[in-house]
Amino acid sequence: MKENLQKIIEQFVDFLLPLLTPYEAGLYIFFLRNSYIKNGSPEIRIGKRTIANNLGASRGEKTNYAHITKIVSGLEEKSCIKIGDTNCDGTLYSVFLPEEISLVKEKLAITADPVEEDYFTNSEKRKEIFVRDKYTCFYCGEKVTPKNATLDHLVPQYKGGKHSKENLKTSCLICNSIKSGKTQEEAAPFLLKSIQERKARNN
Ligand SMILES: [Zn+2]
Repeated sequence: MKENLQKIIEQFVDFLLPLLTPYEAGLYIFFLRNSYIKNGSPEIRIGKRTIANNLGASRGEKTNYAHITKIVSGLEEKSCIKIGDTNCDGTLYSVFLPEEISLVKEKLAITADPVEEDYFTNSEKRKEIFVRDKYTCFYCGEKVTPKNATLDHLVPQYKGGKHSKENLKTSCLICNSIKSGKTQEEAAPFLLKSIQERKARNN
């Protein structure tokens, strides 16, 4: 229930709140508070007088019945609630959770995180990067072997760099140890110096 409540609040604030008028948001939360959150049931039977008293009291103002009817209709138009029958105890409302509301569902679908593939810790995936880079160090251009090839994070992990295909480059041990933890820009002068030294030694 606690985890569920957190999800409800997050989805309400992130996706539903921007779509509602302040009064609609107030009434939706009031409904949710007195149905699902109170007793786990999506239904609430309540009279307009009680709604008016509650909403009005919390805002320190009088809310008339016509206004309540308008807010309730607004919530039904946005498929946040369904209005049922009315008897002497009031009107029956079915309250939908944010994730059940189609406007929220659409937004959730767009923002859902695609599962990112890990090309760093999975050895088969690591190999794909080495093959892509033709076993050549991205920084110095020297050939590496399956035994000494390493993967470098172009954007360092502590700066949010991911284990993604795009962020991983085949690197030789020397270049990787120089580049390690630096951005490309920060590492450039050190890499250049090392590459020049290695060239001079080989000549
Ligand atoms: Zn290198």
